[in-house]
Amino acid sequence: MLNKAKWLAKEAALRVKYMTSKDCIFCQIVAGEVKTELVDQSEDAIAFNDVNPISAVHILIVPKRHIESVLKIGDDDASILVAMHQMAQQLVKDKKLEAFRLAFNGGSYQHVGHLHMHLLAGGNVKWNKL
Ligand code: 5GP
Ligand code: ZN
Repeated sequence: MLNKAKWLAKEAALRVKYMTSKDCIFCQIVAGEVKTELVDQSEDAIAFNDVNPISAVHILIVPKRHIESVLKIGDDDASILVAMHQMAQQLVKDKKLEAFRLAFNGGSYQHVGHLHMHLLAGGNVKWNKL
């Protein structure tokens, strides 16, 4: 029998695997169907505040196109990844962040099945909560 932690990890992995863009919360945010605190927007990417921040600055940088995870990035996605990192670069400059982290979760660490980069800064980043 699976213990609770293993069951939760398995369930999270399945949720990511079978999620489609139709029921994807980040696609709904991109489409404007779900409200969020928008931080920045470009042709290929969007940035908004994390609903459950683990540091003073906790922004999610998300491709507008539904890419499930780091493991699903293909050759055609290079420009999207550049756009995401350039958005992070601009935010770091605009917010004058002296120290910051960029992070991608994957596998059972990932809870939303739409690629996203965490921009974390300010105060004591609760790294183990990500
Ligand atoms: P993951 O664990 O997949 O790397 O991170 C997903 C992040 O998305 C979490 O930090 C969580 O707080 C955030 N999140 C989940 N649903 C929503 C939402 O509807 N709106 C916003 N702004 N953030 C969300
Ligand atoms: Zn999506």
